[in-house]
Amino acid sequence: MDWPPGGSTPVTPVIKAGWLDKNPPQGSYIYQKRWVRLDADHLRYFDSNKDAYSKRFISVACISRVAAIGDQKFEVITNNRTFAFRAESDVERKEWMQALQEAMAEQRARARLSSAYLLGVPGSEQPDRAGSLELRGFKNKLYVAVVGDKVQLYKNLEEYHLGIGITFIDMSVGNVKEVDRRSFDLTTPYRIFSFSADSELEKEQWLEAMQGAIAEALSTSEVAERIWAAAPNRFCADCGAPQPDWASINLCVVICKRCAGEHRGLGAGVSKVRSLKMDRKVWTETLIELFLQLGNGAGNRFWAANVPPSEALQPSSSPSTRRCHLEAKYREGKYRRYHPLFGNQEELDKALCAAVTTTDLAETQALLGCGAGINCFSGDPEAPTPLALAEQAGQTLQMEFLRNNRTTEVPRLDSMKPLEKHYSVVLPTVSHSGFLYKTASASKLLQERRAREEFSRRWCVLGDGVLSYFENERAVTPNGEIRASEIVCLAVPPPDTHGFEHTFEVYTEGERLYLFGLESAEQAHEWVKCIAKAFVPPLAEDLLARDFERLGRLPYKAGLSLQRAQEGWFSLSGSELRAVFPEGPCEEPLQLRKLQELSIQGDSENQVLVLVERRRTLYIQGERRLDFMGWLGAIQKAAASMGDTLSEQQLGDSDIPVIVYRCVDYITQCGLTSEGIYRKCGQTSKTQRLLESLRQDARSVHLKEGEQHVDDVSSALKRFLRDLPDGLFTRAQRLAWLEASEIEDEEEKVSRYRELLVRLPPVNRATVKALISHLYCVQCFSDTNQMNVHNLAIVFGPTLFQTDGQDYKAGRVVEDLINHYVVVFSVDEEELRKQREEITAIVKMRVAGTASGTQHAGDFICTVYLEEKKAETEQHIKIPASMTAEELTLEILDRRNVGIREKDYWTCFEVNEREEAERPLHFAEKVLPILHGLGTDSHLVVKKHQAMEAMLLYLASRVGDTKHGMMKFREDRSLLGLGLPSGGFHDRYFILNSSCLRLYKEVRSQRPWSGAPETSHRPEKEWPVKSLKVYLGVKKKLRPPTCWGFTVVHETEKHEKQQWYLCCDTQMELREWFATFLFVQHDGLVWPSEPSRVSRAVPEVRLGSVSLIPLRGSENEMRRSVAAFTADPLSLLRNV
Ligand SMILES: [Zn+2]
Repeated sequence: MDWPPGGSTPVTPVIKAGWLDKNPPQGSYIYQKRWVRLDADHLRYFDSNKDAYSKRFISVACISRVAAIGDQKFEVITNNRTFAFRAESDVERKEWMQALQEAMAEQRARARLSSAYLLGVPGSEQPDRAGSLELRGFKNKLYVAVVGDKVQLYKNLEEYHLGIGITFIDMSVGNVKEVDRRSFDLTTPYRIFSFSADSELEKEQWLEAMQGAIAEALSTSEVAERIWAAAPNRFCADCGAPQPDWASINLCVVICKRCAGEHRGLGAGVSKVRSLKMDRKVWTETLIELFLQLGNGAGNRFWAANVPPSEALQPSSSPSTRRCHLEAKYREGKYRRYHPLFGNQEELDKALCAAVTTTDLAETQALLGCGAGINCFSGDPEAPTPLALAEQAGQTLQMEFLRNNRTTEVPRLDSMKPLEKHYSVVLPTVSHSGFLYKTASASKLLQERRAREEFSRRWCVLGDGVLSYFENERAVTPNGEIRASEIVCLAVPPPDTHGFEHTFEVYTEGERLYLFGLESAEQAHEWVKCIAKAFVPPLAEDLLARDFERLGRLPYKAGLSLQRAQEGWFSLSGSELRAVFPEGPCEEPLQLRKLQELSIQGDSENQVLVLVERRRTLYIQGERRLDFMGWLGAIQKAAASMGDTLSEQQLGDSDIPVIVYRCVDYITQCGLTSEGIYRKCGQTSKTQRLLESLRQDARSVHLKEGEQHVDDVSSALKRFLRDLPDGLFTRAQRLAWLEASEIEDEEEKVSRYRELLVRLPPVNRATVKALISHLYCVQCFSDTNQMNVHNLAIVFGPTLFQTDGQDYKAGRVVEDLINHYVVVFSVDEEELRKQREEITAIVKMRVAGTASGTQHAGDFICTVYLEEKKAETEQHIKIPASMTAEELTLEILDRRNVGIREKDYWTCFEVNEREEAERPLHFAEKVLPILHGLGTDSHLVVKKHQAMEAMLLYLASRVGDTKHGMMKFREDRSLLGLGLPSGGFHDRYFILNSSCLRLYKEVRSQRPWSGAPETSHRPEKEWPVKSLKVYLGVKKKLRPPTCWGFTVVHETEKHEKQQWYLCCDTQMELREWFATFLFVQHDGLVWPSEPSRVSRAVPEVRLGSVSLIPLRGSENEMRRSVAAFTADPLSLLRNV
């Protein structure tokens, strides 16, 4: 048999089911009616056909024989027991016996097949945990086994061995939670199982095992199947067991569960173990592709080139044999194929630098495995490391491979003595000792310098996970100790913060702060390293690879799992915040100086630090006050501009300092047509004040038209550039630029500029490009602003080169750069087109804006697609705050010259690629807030709304404005904080009225379909309809039962999202529900009765000088604008 295709927990199909009489136990003659079900693995009988849990199950593998006895009876015989059943007729008996015999034969064939690989080892049947537990409702303790995704209940150990049990629980519908010290509940939709363990520890272990079973039930084999597409990946790279579902992501091999256990023991420095099925976030497209290209084939050609048959592993090998083999294979590299350059470090490094620029991944693997330095210097300052070289060459797979091997140790035959080896397998034990100077512990952050006298000399010993300090080295009893497990943060203040040159702080869970000091930098560094190793788990050990100013664990929320805070590991070095999340993928460090937002929310009791980067938002919670305050201060400091040079500024997208970006953006939006822009000077005092606040925290400065004059802003920018200590073109290279301007041959000169540009530091380079691109735009408007290229050059030459302007060389450079902008900066057609479009949009809006004095700062440029997402259908458009979905739609159609025919219901859709769902925006919806809430996997597309006509017809013809009926419902419950959906779709009754969507478990009325149905009791759930967002479609992964589904997102007041999936039986049903949603959410206005073509790009009515209520336009428009006023009474006052 092959593995089941696709997805998790394959539902074992029922082979045969029906009512049978079963003989009662203990020889009574009264037969009991039982519902009996046979599948490939089990024969089960139930009290009734409605029960989810059986009274008994018999493992098919344990049935030795089936025999007919008199009176339509037959016996199912196992080693030890016989079960007798009676069918209604001979025919039925025959069918049952036949089905049973076939199932047995099938089972045996399977066993034979697997024994070829497994040599009699029961393989996947090995329980993850088994033992006795009390179950409420049972007199005696039961024997419980957690096997794969199931929890099996047996009367006792003997029956467990016989394969005869009571029932088993499919954990795909299970949930566990602890009740008290020893008890816990396993909850399923059908029944709650209340267990009690013998001890608290055992309870914990059971909980863990059952949670594992849930994770396994919910895991998917999507990744596994893709990786198994390469034939060698179908068998464990180490022992050959089939269907390996684990992997070492740095060694790039696929391995079985047992080998994975031993790989873990090797430590993450040798092998980084991940599950193909459970660690789903790890498996990016790139990583999967890497496994298809390298994987077990290439891996074993290198790592297992010389395995003597006597040392080869089998699927049945014992744990100790496995451990020895894997130690030899990966830690010592005993069986590897030696690279011809082995032993010659320099040549190896060179070869690595060459290999990473090619597609030859196997060569890279061989070189790294033979000792080439992953961080060796390439000799090219532009791309100093192999990783940078690979990046330059666009070799993403090489990059991925190098990244995964950042911290991999080079295999060495003499790597460790056997004794030490043993320890490294158990846990990394760190030990260290020496004298440290220590102050009394504090409960507050140390604001003041601690004098030398406040420190006392203590003999400190770190070992067995405890840091103890003694009066002296001969003392036996410690003065005190700190358990590594209690340490939450370790911080290294800058040298000379206190009386001792080098200090470090240890924060504990109990909110104490210990300060230690030392004279010697090396010794202090060593202590910090050892303490860090002692309290950071293997999961986060990547953080130890580099120096840090602060390291520790903090509760956080991020990504998809916002419902629940988890503990993550963080390290801060310079302006980089690295994070390791227990469930998440390997995260790129957060560049604190590039944050879009850094703020503190919540009250003083419950502070949350919010960090927003371009694509991610991270919430760090201040559960423990002391270390949180420490982190807060450190992060705020790291996020600020560090100094005066360009690269020390807060940086925005594409490495441009925020301060430059803010000014350029403002001038682009408000100053392009201003006469003498950049030549005229602003008011000195205003310019200075502005520059000061920009220097302090540019991120928080929002320039607004009306508040700042364009000349003040332009002067601030010039002043900033002129005052840069190193200048935009750097002191070192300034002369070379000026000299280049004198080259006579134009072509030669341009290529010289290009050369020089490459030599600038990245931030300077990006800034030069942004600035020249901006000046290029400015001169496009020289008709109105009088600033042609020459005039701009006169102003900017001396500013950028910090000269007195006596000679024109500096100006010449600027003039050349603007004139040759496209060539010097390799601007491609597309980029230029977008830029032009943007300018056109701005000008259009300026023209419209000046008439009414509308404010435009803060407009947003966004990409919208026509009909489908493709590069050719991309359209960039500026979205003013007032723009509605209808206006956006018309604007796009207009720009693309698409005519609107009658009954073309052109609509703007918000498409969520991850959820495979889309939401047609309501025509009056404002686009800007939607844009702000759009994730990276979402986009806007304008296309025809195919169902609109049918929906309008339905709405026009129906009676009443509520809708009710059955739908299939599935909830997105978050389990174990994994954010995974659970359970399947179930029939539920829904009522949708003008205020709420209500869900009922069942309908009690006899005639539910006539008139208003009587539903049972109160609704099971109820949601206010206005806070729901309804998307068409349900992602396929959830296996919706029909293709007419929708996804409902409910955002709570705390901005937490919940999600449900609903499926209808027919397309018309779906349309009716959707139409009703639209109707109730938008007070009956589903489609504009007449497209309001006039209103496009017209400024917001309430701010404009036009009359309050439009004099022309449809009735709908009138109603809408009246509604707008009543919604915001203040706006009326403002205009009166
Ligand atoms: Zn294996």
